[in-house]
Parts: sequence; C-alpha cells; structure tokens
Amino acid sequence: MKLTLLGAPGAGKGTQSDILSRKLGVPTISTGNILRSAIHDGTSVGLAAKSYIDKGQLVPDNVIIDIVQERLSQPDCANGFILDGMPRTIPQAEALIAHGIVLDGVLSLEVSDEDIVERMAGRRVCPRCGASYHVRMNPPKQDGVCDACGTALIVRPDDAPETVRDRLHIYHEQTEPLKGFYEKLGLLRSVENAGSIEDVSREIFRSLGIGE
Ligand code: AMP
Repeated sequence: MKLTLLGAPGAGKGTQSDILSRKLGVPTISTGNILRSAIHDGTSVGLAAKSYIDKGQLVPDNVIIDIVQERLSQPDCANGFILDGMPRTIPQAEALIAHGIVLDGVLSLEVSDEDIVERMAGRRVCPRCGASYHVRMNPPKQDGVCDACGTALIVRPDDAPETVRDRLHIYHEQTEPLKGFYEKLGLLRSVENAGSIEDVSREIFRSLGIGE
C-alpha cells in the first residue's frame, strides 16, 4: 500500500504512520526526519533546509521532491510506503504524479488549532531516532528518555509557540488545499484524531479498509 498522511503539525502523523508502517510491513518516509538528520550530518541538503525549518517555513518544493524521489527508489519501498509530511503543497503532489508515484490512499488527521497548540507544548522527540512522545498522552517509559534508543528527549526548536502559530498558518494556506486535490481523485479519507492513540489507529485501519 502506498499512503500519505496529511494533517497540521502535531496532528499525530508521525505516531500513526509508525503504527501503520508496522501493521503493513512497509517503511515510513518522514521528510521532516530526513531533513533533521541531514542538518545533524551537515550535508548540503541540511544546510539548505535549516533556515526554513528553524523559521517554521516550508523547505522549497524542488529540495523535497529530490529527497523523496531518491528515497522511494530504494528497494525497501518496492512493496509500499507511508509518507509522513509529504506532500505539503499542490506542486509536491503534482510532482509525485509526474514521477509515476501513484498513491492508494490519503489519510487526513483532523485536529482543531486549539488542540494542536496544546499538543505541541507537550511534544518531546528523540534527536537520534526521531521517535515522538507527549508528556501526558504518550509518555516514554522513563521520563525524558527515548524507549527505542535510550537517548535524552528534547523539545524541537520549531515547536516553540510562536513558530507553531506560523506553521499552522502555513498549513492552512498551503497544505490544507491538498484535501480538495485528493478528494477529487477519490483518495481522501478523514479521521478525527480524538481519543486514545489505539482508538484512532483502529479508525484509520477501518477507513482505509485494513483488517485489524
Ligand atoms: P515535520 O517533522 O513533518 O513537522 O517537518 C518539520 C519541518 O520540515 C517543516 O516545518 C518544514 O520546514 C520541513 N518539511 C518537512 N516536510 C516538508 C515538505 N514536504 N515540504 C516542505 N517542507 C517540509
């Protein structure tokens, strides 16, 4: 299955795409994680992306399209993948189609702006493996430490409240129109991200026609 998850920053795309990835046995491709690791490694892509990410702006489409095209050509994507955070603009969605990357489904995770601001305040991430937690809704087993790799968790710099407001504004302006784009293609499914992580996963499986 080739899927993408749409949703505001902090809507739960990372958490739910990892669950879907385990369920379907296909990799999650998170453009945010790829960019953060490029910044950490000091690559040319990382240098180009850093100033945009720090300001909460979108990285230019051509950078993203190159990254995704390269990643999707790897053998582990042959049987499917879950895109987390891509496309974020109509030109990115058009580029996927132009490159012959045909999605089977698009899942939009719906969360109100007020809830997003609250969720972002409690988000903690692992700077090493990219795992994401929430101090109340999805805490790690040991306070402040990643369950998966034991690294100390951090607050993402772009999760600062003023940057979150800018990211939400950009989401509504540039990413939300993708819902209409994919609705016209008959691919859009929407799920309210309300309730526990497990409840939402069940609802996602149901809406995508994936058996429990
Ligand atoms: P995320 O981890 O998905 O919230 O992404 C973090 C940041 O990376 C975003 O705020 C953007 O600056 C950048 N980014 C990630 N994916 C994309 C994309 N598909 N298009 C443009 N910028 C992106």
